[in-house]
Amino acid sequence: MRQPVKTALGSGLLLADGAIGTELQRRGLEPGACAEAWNIQYPDRVEEVHRAYVEAGARFLTTNSFRGTRFALAGFGLGDRAAEVNRRAAELARRAAGDRAWVLGSIGPFGGFLEPLGDTSPEELHSWFREQASALLEGGADGIVLETMASKEEVGVGIRAARAAGAALVAAMMTFEKGKGTCRTMMGVAPEDAAKFMADEGADVVGSNCGTGLSMPDYAAIVAGFRSATGNPVLIRPNAGSPELVGDRVVYRQAPEAMAAEVMSLAGAGANIIGGCCGTTPGHIRAFGAVLRRGVDHES
Ligand SMILES: [Zn+2]
Repeated sequence: MRQPVKTALGSGLLLADGAIGTELQRRGLEPGACAEAWNIQYPDRVEEVHRAYVEAGARFLTTNSFRGTRFALAGFGLGDRAAEVNRRAAELARRAAGDRAWVLGSIGPFGGFLEPLGDTSPEELHSWFREQASALLEGGADGIVLETMASKEEVGVGIRAARAAGAALVAAMMTFEKGKGTCRTMMGVAPEDAAKFMADEGADVVGSNCGTGLSMPDYAAIVAGFRSATGNPVLIRPNAGSPELVGDRVVYRQAPEAMAAEVMSLAGAGANIIGGCCGTTPGHIRAFGAVLRRGVDHES
């Protein structure tokens, strides 16, 4: 029997899954196309990605719903089907997970700007996030994960919306880029500040994913920054190196073994849950698991 998701948090270092988007591209999703539409068009391919991550040892799966707000889906003519798209996303991950993994419903940035930079009010954004979170939970997600957030205000709205939808666990991740020697979000937020803010807003798990121009030591520094600011579990999901453009495709070249060789540094910095973001594959997650198990054995 699957335990309630919060019991997972006390049980040592856990593996999460890797990228969904780049895995779907390997299965034919065109760059710029709507990945979330595949929950309806090609459910088998989406489920196959989730299943590969379970087989690789991931205990947390992320649903294929990153751009799943009504606002973002409207750009693909699916705005009115937002609930269905998200419910399907959770059902597919849930089916692949069985009792072997927990499912976190993914919510990414809505893709616009809040007032006064844009014309979206926090109340409107809350209603979109809440609709998305409710559908993900209805489809069987154990909790909600906010991903790749750059703005404190937006992630704050997301955390409150996930809570309002009744999520048993809310994880929140911001994304950083390398500036003059330090990591900041696009909006200038430092890791310590992000961690404290998200924990204060009510996130059970805080962390970081994706990023621009970051090496593994940068990701480890972000984890250390989070660790210094909060006692909450820390989740980290690095990219497989920096993106390179090949034709019209973005590729990530860091191989599973090369990345896994540095993964202990994330655990050493205080990470509790480790997965991957863009360009990481089931092969990366399997390699992470092998290294982390060896590392933990060494310590005990
Ligand atoms: Zn990413």
